[in-house]
Amino acid sequence: MSTPMTAASGYPARYWHFIEDGRIQCDLCPRDCKLHEGQRGACFVRQRVGAQMFLTTYGRSSGFCIDPIEKKPLNHFYPGSSVLSFGTAGCNLACKFCQNWDISKSRDMDRLMDQASPAAIADAAEQHGCKSVAFTYNDPVVFAEYAMDVADACHARGIKTVAVTAGYMHDQPRRDFYAKMDAANVDLKAFTEDFYFKLTGSQLQPVLDTLVYLRHHTDVWFEITTLLIPGKNDSDEELTAMGQWIMRALGPDVPLHFTAFHPDYKMEDLPATPPATLTRARDIALRAGLRYVYTGNVYDLVGGTTSCPSCHAPLIVRDWHQIIQYRLTPQGHCPDCGAQLAGRFETFNSQFGRRRIPIAINMRRGG
Ligand code: SF4
Repeated sequence: MSTPMTAASGYPARYWHFIEDGRIQCDLCPRDCKLHEGQRGACFVRQRVGAQMFLTTYGRSSGFCIDPIEKKPLNHFYPGSSVLSFGTAGCNLACKFCQNWDISKSRDMDRLMDQASPAAIADAAEQHGCKSVAFTYNDPVVFAEYAMDVADACHARGIKTVAVTAGYMHDQPRRDFYAKMDAANVDLKAFTEDFYFKLTGSQLQPVLDTLVYLRHHTDVWFEITTLLIPGKNDSDEELTAMGQWIMRALGPDVPLHFTAFHPDYKMEDLPATPPATLTRARDIALRAGLRYVYTGNVYDLVGGTTSCPSCHAPLIVRDWHQIIQYRLTPQGHCPDCGAQLAGRFETFNSQFGRRRIPIAINMRRGG
C-alpha cells in the first residue's frame, strides 16, 4: 500500500512523465504543470526533486475535526452520522472567492502540525464512532496518494470515505481515486467556461467530465454544491442551463446544494448572497426536474428538507445541520407511499447533531 517517505522530499508521487525538453509534466490535473528541477506545481505541494515528483504533504494535516455528515454537505449519505474530517494544504484551483483560503493557499508547511499515518486516521475514526472519513478543507486531488492510502486503511476497518472536491482531475487518476471513495461532494462552481477561467483559473469541462464519470461509471454516491456569488453565477439563464444539464446528463436524483457566499479572500468587495437568491436558484432547479435541491449557509427550513419524490411528504427536516424530523425506513423508503429515495441509508437511531469536535490523532502509528 505505502511507498516509504524519503526524509528530504516527501512521498514519491504518481501521475507524471518526462517531456522532450527534460521537464517533468504532472498528469494529475488539467493544469499540466511542467517542472524544472526543484520547482513546485501550481498547487505548491507537488514538487520535482531530481528525476522524480514528490507529494510534500503526505501524512501531514492542518487538523482533524468530527462533523455531522450534513456539513460536507451530504444530505443523502447516512444522514445524521458523524464524519472525521481533515485536509492538508494547497489547491489546484485559484478561486478568487475561496472560503478556505488560509488552508488552500497556504505556503507555510508549518501549518501542517498534525502528522498522522493512514492507519492512525482510520483507528481514530473507529474509536470515535465515525461512519466515514472525509478528505476536505482543501481539495484532496492534490494529496491524492495520501487520501487513497487513508481510504484503504478505512475500508479495512469498515469506515466509509468521502471526497469534498472541485472534481478537477485527469482521467486515469480520476479512475484510481474514485475506486477508493464511497461518496463525494463535487463543486460545480458555475456553468460557464468564462467564470471558471476568470475566477478559478481552471476549466468547466473537466468538472462536467468528473460528474458524468461518477454517475455512469461508478457506485460512488455524490451530491453537487454551487456557491452562488452575486452577479457572477446567479442569473436565471445560467441556473436554468445548469439545472437542465444536470437533468440531461446525470438524471433527477443527484442532490444539488446552493450555498451562500460570504465576502472573502480576493472578493471582499461583493455582498453576501441574499437568501432570496438561494430560494430563486432552488426553484429554478426544481422546475428543471431535479428532485432534491437544497439551500445552505442560511436559515431555511424548506430548503433544508428532504421530501418524498412521489407523494412530497417531508421526510427529513433539518435546522442547519441538525435533523429535527426523520421518517425514512432503514432502506430509505417513504413510510407513506413506499417510494425509494436516492442515497445511502440505514437504521436511524440517533444523530451526531450540529457539533464540531476538534480531535488529536495518535501520531506516527505505522501503516
Ligand atoms: S496537481 Fe498540482 S502539480 Fe499537478 S498539474 Fe495540478 S496544480 Fe500542477
